[in-house]
Amino acid sequence: MTAAFDLLLVGAGHAHLGVLRLWAGGQRPRGRIALICPEPYVWYSGMLPGLLAGRYSAGQCRIPLQPLCAAAGIEWVAAAVTALEADTRTLQLSSGEALHGRWLSLNPGSLPSAPAQEGAGMELLPVKPFPAFIARWQDWQRPPEPLAILGGGAAGVELALAMARQVPSLALISAAPLLSGHPPALRQRALRHLQAAGVQVHERCAVERIRGDVLMAAGQPVWQGQRLVLATGASPLPWLRESGLACDGKGFVTIAPTLQSLSHPQIFAAGDCASLADTPRNGVYAVRQGPVLAGNLAHALNGEALAAYQPQRHALALLADGQGGALLSWAGLTAEGTVLGRWKDWLDRRFMRRHAAPER
Ligand SMILES: Cc1cc2nc3c(=O)[nH]c(=O)nc-3n(C[C@H](O)[C@H](O)[C@H](O)COP(=O)(O)OP(=O)(O)OC[C@H]3O[C@@H](n4cnc5c(N)ncnc54)[C@H](O)[C@@H]3O)c2cc1C
Repeated sequence: MTAAFDLLLVGAGHAHLGVLRLWAGGQRPRGRIALICPEPYVWYSGMLPGLLAGRYSAGQCRIPLQPLCAAAGIEWVAAAVTALEADTRTLQLSSGEALHGRWLSLNPGSLPSAPAQEGAGMELLPVKPFPAFIARWQDWQRPPEPLAILGGGAAGVELALAMARQVPSLALISAAPLLSGHPPALRQRALRHLQAAGVQVHERCAVERIRGDVLMAAGQPVWQGQRLVLATGASPLPWLRESGLACDGKGFVTIAPTLQSLSHPQIFAAGDCASLADTPRNGVYAVRQGPVLAGNLAHALNGEALAAYQPQRHALALLADGQGGALLSWAGLTAEGTVLGRWKDWLDRRFMRRHAAPER
């Protein structure tokens, strides 16, 4: 028996958090609506480096989902989607249940990719999903061992700066120059901080396979050890690629500015899982999609015209430096310092306050 809903939200990503926040504030459309998400908490990626560096407690970095869903007046289904049939809008869940939605909205994020692995000499720890990552990182503290991080984007750099002082040695390995989507001055600033933290940085080093306990790039060994964190940027979730939804060459769901799938307009997609021109995959853009998505889901349920999401031209990036400060990149400008760290802390805490369920 397939349970039927007017709208099913898949994943508690940044855009869906914005939707729930607005609905909790009184803008919920009518109909039977549920959110499907396996975890009882949403971990906020902006504060994850601070959690790892010991600057925040776990409770400060996660949003309890059940109270937020209750405040928004929707059901929470505690399961993961394992398959989607786009033509019938039917979702298979890890619980064995199947759910059907008249409308669907997808915001389940992405996963880091891993190089091919020969043998079991190295343990790979993807940075997402966050709950599994945090739990295993705690195990890795007892006792700490040499560590490598694969991925030289903002996440890899922040993780390296947060973890460097907690392990005997740390290598940061990047296929491109570090922070390649940002101004070159940000890379210089990050390199100075990484050097001060004792991180060995390998740039332009595309690891193509893991042979036993050795990382291989261009046929040469580049690092030997038993623990590897994967912060390799977004790769698509396999079940989305196999759903029948139109996808780009990498397997991300192609969407129109209304955030509807190009092939299946009754399915919306936002955040990392979606592919839209001029829209990088990071939390800033996913957050900004939230209000447009909330409006369009209500319009769709009411049979009204939809609005277009317009990606902003510049996004503020504030990277935690692992010592309470932050590095800033915005519109080609860069800066750093403890004042920026305090500002980042204020912005992050405000995000958490905004998404906490209102007191009843
Ligand atoms: C260490 C780190 C730091 C970062 N810092 C920043 C930053 O400071 N600023 C910034 O802009 N970006 C940052 N990012 C990037 C940012 O995390 C993502 O781009 C952002 O989270 C957008 O993701 P999303 O909204 O698509 O989904 P996510 O936030 O990844 O959420 C996905 C949700 O879907 C759920 N889910 C996953 N699979 C399923 C399934 N099969 N069924 C049901 N639910 C599912 C998950 O449990 C989760 O609740 C950082 C990333 C990392 C790794």
